[in-house]
Amino acid sequence: MIYLDANATEPLRPEARDAALTAMEAVGNPSSVHQAGRGARKILESAREQLAAFTNSRPADVIFCAGATEADALAIHALGAGRPILIGATEHDAIRTAAPHTVTIPVLPSGQVDLAALESLLASRNGALVCLMAANNETGVLHDIEKAAKLCAAAGALLHVDAVQSIGRANQDWLALGATSFALSGHKFGAPIGAGALVTCPNLEIKALIKGGGQELGRRGGTPALPAIAGLAAALGSPYPAEQISAWRDEIEAFSIAQGAIAIGGGASRLPNTTCLALPGVRAETQLIALDMAGICVSSGSACSSGKVASSHVLLAMGLGNLAGQAIRVSLPWNVQEGAVQKFQAAYASMATRALRNVPQSA
Ligand code: PLP
Repeated sequence: MIYLDANATEPLRPEARDAALTAMEAVGNPSSVHQAGRGARKILESAREQLAAFTNSRPADVIFCAGATEADALAIHALGAGRPILIGATEHDAIRTAAPHTVTIPVLPSGQVDLAALESLLASRNGALVCLMAANNETGVLHDIEKAAKLCAAAGALLHVDAVQSIGRANQDWLALGATSFALSGHKFGAPIGAGALVTCPNLEIKALIKGGGQELGRRGGTPALPAIAGLAAALGSPYPAEQISAWRDEIEAFSIAQGAIAIGGGASRLPNTTCLALPGVRAETQLIALDMAGICVSSGSACSSGKVASSHVLLAMGLGNLAGQAIRVSLPWNVQEGAVQKFQAAYASMATRALRNVPQSA
């Protein structure tokens, strides 16, 4: 099997696995006052300190939760109450479904947020909450968070950044750039599935979405998933061979273009590991199934929506029309090997040759 679906979940990092296994052996609930509880609490607080140090934030402003879907929902619940909410047109469903009434900020054909449109939308909406992803999960396209944050600050708006796909691959100091908060998810950078965090700037009142027993200083109830949280902290800052990965991504992309593909978002700044390849006239599911049968794991649309036969809202927002249902995402994992590139190319060439034979000339 060749795994090229890192944006759905990165393979487990050995250091994250070790830390998670150690935490799994620890007896005790971090909320208990006795010795065992204090031991568990130490693991939790040390992970919090590591995450705060890595993201240049304060431990007190790190709220652990189950993943980024929850972190995004918490941000919208806590920061969006009573404010107009503006979201990027290519945001993940974690954002799109968490905010009931939103205004959409369009993107340019490149996939990057239309900053002029953001500025004019902000002009008529006092004290808004803006939600923008740092990097898109389907195309890898990076938004200019620094410029967006300046526009938000000038308009007195808050900015929540979904940093899920960027942590570990294209890190930025989001709070220093002017973000109010950002969301992250451990399994997107090599930790076990099950832990994420909302990190905020200091002195924000965060009203819990899940109240429960008042854990996380009353901001997120429920016993924290200690092994996943310990794994998350251990995976932070793990070496990421960005140059090598982007060279192999470019190789895959150039090869696929030569077979008839179009690289979507290819002109914009992108994550090093992602390419979104449309094959005109060939449905994404047909491509996925053919590649899967050849042992290659890739996706169409976001992982959360694969299985649904729907065009990607991200690609539709970029104005791609029919191509929005004809694109696959190839996302190289941190531990990709050169052989995977050749195996993908062989499978892609044979899939494209067979599929394009059946496409009518006018398609
Ligand atoms: N935001 C983005 C950009 C994502 O890619 C994902 C997962 O695909 C999420 C949020 C949701 O993350 P989680 O799986 O931790 O709930």
